[in-house]
Amino acid sequence: MAEISESAVRKVLETIIDPATGRSVAALGMVGGIATRGGHVAITLDVDPSRGPALEPLRQACEQAVRAMPGVLSATAVMTSERPAQPPPPAPGGRHGHSHAPGGKTTGGGGRIEVPGVKHIIAVASGKGGVGKSTTAVNLALGLAANGISTGLLDADIYGPSMPRMLDVKEKPESIDGKQLKPIERYGIKTMSIGYIVAEDTPMIWRGPMVSSALEQMLRDVQWGDLDVLVVDMPPGTGDAQLTLAQRVALAGAVIVSTPQDIALVDARKGLNMFRKVAVPVLGIVENMSYFLCPKCGERAEIFGHGGAHEEADKLGVPFLGEIPLHLDIRTTSDSGHPIVVSKPESAHAQVYKNIAGRVWKQLSANQRGPRAAPRIVVQ
Ligand code: ADP
Repeated sequence: MAEISESAVRKVLETIIDPATGRSVAALGMVGGIATRGGHVAITLDVDPSRGPALEPLRQACEQAVRAMPGVLSATAVMTSERPAQPPPPAPGGRHGHSHAPGGKTTGGGGRIEVPGVKHIIAVASGKGGVGKSTTAVNLALGLAANGISTGLLDADIYGPSMPRMLDVKEKPESIDGKQLKPIERYGIKTMSIGYIVAEDTPMIWRGPMVSSALEQMLRDVQWGDLDVLVVDMPPGTGDAQLTLAQRVALAGAVIVSTPQDIALVDARKGLNMFRKVAVPVLGIVENMSYFLCPKCGERAEIFGHGGAHEEADKLGVPFLGEIPLHLDIRTTSDSGHPIVVSKPESAHAQVYKNIAGRVWKQLSANQRGPRAAPRIVVQ
């Protein structure tokens, strides 16, 4: 099946007119992101929160129009706003959205989103896509659980959620009281992903009043219960959305995933700087696809010039958490919904992830200040 192109989706969105302004959602700059995967299309609409409820019909119209495109199996549009819902911001001059000058806002530690019962929220981030961030996040979470730590995993990659595939989740989360959703338990961890709920009908959690931010809902409106660690798989990159997440969520720390190539390391540095700007401690760098371990002969080949991330971490003064080889088993297990830490727990690769998890936990438990102590944004 041919993949649906982003530009084809955008074209369709050019035909959806906002009755209040007479302009299309595309022309209004509302289309925040488009992700397509195997006939499933997800769209985020950046909207002004004050117009939220009034825009519900427009959101539905976008979904319907995209759903009607040939080859589209499902379409989901989610309204997001980067402006904090509460307390209402003073809005000095600028409008919401793309005005986030890094470090320019003084969201105090007190304004950060916390999840009651969750001791440490950590982000797994990468400077760019495709470096294995989600694979690392999943196996790190499972590695923490394997070390006896109660763990949750939130797939915050609303543009391309990967947890349904990586954890083989087909069921939908249940609602508890019409307000909160129960996380889906898999392999001993609690998980939530927008991908669990967006495929068909608009789920209740996204319906109705304005969604101030998709992630905020997944943190607040999911019954995470008591957890030692909640691992957040961030959207790839270091744009506004990521910066907003980094600054709004009470993160105890961040793990940066990088491949050894220089270019990726440049991106990794951007990730590092992003967290530093918002004073989130960087727990360390993981080098993924570090070397190639031939599945036939066991020979090790350093195709990307292995070791770059370790050197870089030393230079930047952040811990190096470990190196993960490029290996078919890692790909096939995570792509089939049975990550290697649980499907081959005795393997050397599983051990690598468990060691990384151990190093992360050591830092978190040594720093029991917890998220409440999240410092203020450092203005550069
Ligand atoms: P990202 O989240 O950075 O976009 P993913 O975790 O989705 O990246 O990984 C991209 C692809 O690379 C997936 O197919 C995944 O299975 C594969 N992959 C990730 N890490 C490894 C590894 N160490 N060895 C082999 N394949 C890997």
